[in-house]
Amino acid sequence: MAPTVERQLIVFDFDWSMADQDTDRWIFEVLAPDIRRKMKTLQEEIQWTDLIAQSLAELHARGRTQEEIQHTLRIMPFHPAMVRGVTKLKEASNPHTTFFCLSNANSVFISTILESKGLQGLFEEIVTNPAHFQPSGLLKLRRRIDPNGPQHDCKIGCSPNMCKGEELDAFLKRHQPDYDRIIYVGDGSNDFCPILRMRSQDMVLCRRFRGLEHRIAKEGEERGLKCQVKYWAGAWEVEEIFASL
Ligand SMILES: [Mg+2]
Ligand SMILES: [Zn+2]
Repeated sequence: MAPTVERQLIVFDFDWSMADQDTDRWIFEVLAPDIRRKMKTLQEEIQWTDLIAQSLAELHARGRTQEEIQHTLRIMPFHPAMVRGVTKLKEASNPHTTFFCLSNANSVFISTILESKGLQGLFEEIVTNPAHFQPSGLLKLRRRIDPNGPQHDCKIGCSPNMCKGEELDAFLKRHQPDYDRIIYVGDGSNDFCPILRMRSQDMVLCRRFRGLEHRIAKEGEERGLKCQVKYWAGAWEVEEIFASL
């Protein structure tokens, strides 16, 4: 018989996992497609968070406003089934569910979208790159890990601004005792590092056709992936899985 689950943790990546789009790319596709095109060429040479910070400065220099950025975020695709699924799970008391957001986007993008969906109280913690609007309307963005300070020592290939595996471990240390079950919802190749640290009673809900699916197929076995893997493509399937927990 499976041990009973009283406390569970659900870890959410944000772009293409909780949300049905990628915030960093969406902003520029809507407000300045030529900057979006430029990002494609520059991403080989500039670290991604730095590139977004630089592109946001360019957007500001063109006179695009805080209101325009916030509006663009609010209209970004976000599936109603995702809102329903997490809301129901949060309300249920048995098992008790804690939500943790672990994202390579930034604090302004995430909080603006969550508020627009009535989900501002969902997460216990949001770990991401820090950002804020300056009085001028410039959205100032920094890496989670300062490039001038000590760097993470991840060997799984996380980008310099954040190792999601180390961040998951740190969250679990802050929130003892251990959760009976951890469920990780992710899609990207940088979601591979944290799921390697999960146990056999834990589960990853992996979005199909994206980086995480490829990494699980290629490296999962050799790196000793222990958690269960369930695949999904549309948010309605995540709602379905959540309802069956
Ligand atoms: Mg993602
Ligand atoms: Zn890592």
